[in-house]
Amino acid sequence: MTGYERLEMLIDGEWTAGSDAASMAVENPATEATIGDLPLASTQDLDRALAASLQGFNVWKDTPALQRQGILENAARLLEERREQIARTCTLEIGKPLRESLMEIDFTIGVLRWYAEEGKRAYGRVVPARDIRVRNTVLKEPVGPVVGFAAWNFPAVNVIRKVAGALAAGCSIIVKPSEEAPGTAIAIARCFQDAGLPRGVLNVVFGNPADTSAYLLSSSIPRKVTFTGSVPVGIHLQTLAARTLKRCTLELGGHAPFIVLPDADVELAAQTAAAFKLRNAGQVCTSPSRFFVHSSVHDRFVGVFADAFEKAVVGDGLDDAATMGPLAAQRRLEVMDRLVADARDHGASVVTGGKRIGNRGWFFAPTLLDEVPDEAAIMREEPFGPVAPVSRFEDLDEVIERANSVEVGLASYVFTRNGGWAQEATRRLNAGLVGINCAAISLPETPFGGVDHSGYGSEGGIEGLDAFMRTKFVAEIR
Ligand code: NAD
Repeated sequence: MTGYERLEMLIDGEWTAGSDAASMAVENPATEATIGDLPLASTQDLDRALAASLQGFNVWKDTPALQRQGILENAARLLEERREQIARTCTLEIGKPLRESLMEIDFTIGVLRWYAEEGKRAYGRVVPARDIRVRNTVLKEPVGPVVGFAAWNFPAVNVIRKVAGALAAGCSIIVKPSEEAPGTAIAIARCFQDAGLPRGVLNVVFGNPADTSAYLLSSSIPRKVTFTGSVPVGIHLQTLAARTLKRCTLELGGHAPFIVLPDADVELAAQTAAAFKLRNAGQVCTSPSRFFVHSSVHDRFVGVFADAFEKAVVGDGLDDAATMGPLAAQRRLEVMDRLVADARDHGASVVTGGKRIGNRGWFFAPTLLDEVPDEAAIMREEPFGPVAPVSRFEDLDEVIERANSVEVGLASYVFTRNGGWAQEATRRLNAGLVGINCAAISLPETPFGGVDHSGYGSEGGIEGLDAFMRTKFVAEIR
């Protein structure tokens, strides 16, 4: 277990193993070895966390924004000092190559710094009154204690988007990171505690996800829930939240179309497609996952894409040579096998990959499928893995219709040199994020979020801060 984080929960400013002996093993997906034993919260622990989050909120909301910023900036500095150790923890528990983990921690620091700064700018406004004696003021206030549930695929970023947004707005938060990647979240929480965050403002708990979320959401203390994860779980949590009328921000799955128009820079498109598909072994909600390529450039695109996939070095993320790590869990391998078999049954060809690599660790070969018909399951179900289905198209109307034919709408990508086509695709694509000739669509300062079954609300940008605030209108006669 060397080099891995000590696994604890943070409740009311104290690190704890919880009030009962329940725990679960954390595994390294590259080796299948147990790397830690994670304590799980009892209902008494959750009650303590709820009470602490209310007390923490009462202290934090009345802490001046500039003072809050100072503490968040201290936490960012500590994260910077500890970045290499935290990145290693991230790779150990989720498998991504160390350089990707380092990029994730750097992005995490960027998100924290951006929110820390922006918290000072949660301005209200003065509305011109109808009577000279009246002053109409709109005030922004923190919404209240928050509960956040974060998925395993970005163990740092999924957590910081919730924690930093809440804290910058003046909210307290109970966060339940994924039980599959707890160490990274704990290491981040240590930075906040060591930075001087008052007790109860940030609480970290673990437990059976269904039981823990049902318990926390049945309490009227949290006034908001923020979740990153799958569509069915998002719908379930919104239903639970409705009973106590909590606000929701839901970052759910996607199934991003990647459209290559006939005039595109095909080399750039194929290299970008491969690089972003390999990232985190395709376990990214914005990962390009349905590749629609114009017939006239199809063969060149597939050739460059396949070549890039074949050059990928799949291995343990701690190995310097690895450019792609394992999948996070065995269940993801089973999904890849099923989707590839189904695509084959529907007449698709496997250009490269198509199966598990080795028999230890959850490694799956980067897989390029060609001539995949829309009826294949992979064209409707997000693979969340390194499997890329390619399909031809003939004209813009047809491809937009096919791109919009799923219920989710998170990311979308268009490669073209034609400004008119780019604008038309941007206007007509049903998605919260559009990348034109690029795939870099997530930044601390820009809103990140989807539409329809991809959820709603934004993390990042001024919209991300606003999501943790409520509005108060004051009419005052002098
Ligand atoms: P899953 O539906 O079992 O779990 C998704 C996440 O939700 C996990 O972190 C899990 O711990 C959590 N979860 C599950 N039930 C919960 C509950 N009742 N209350 C609170 N949290 C709960 O799926 P999975 O196999 O872990 O992940 C695969 C699918 O999840 C993908 O196909 C993808 O669509 C989606 N996903 C999306 C994101 C994202 O960034 N939006 C991240 C991870 C997973």
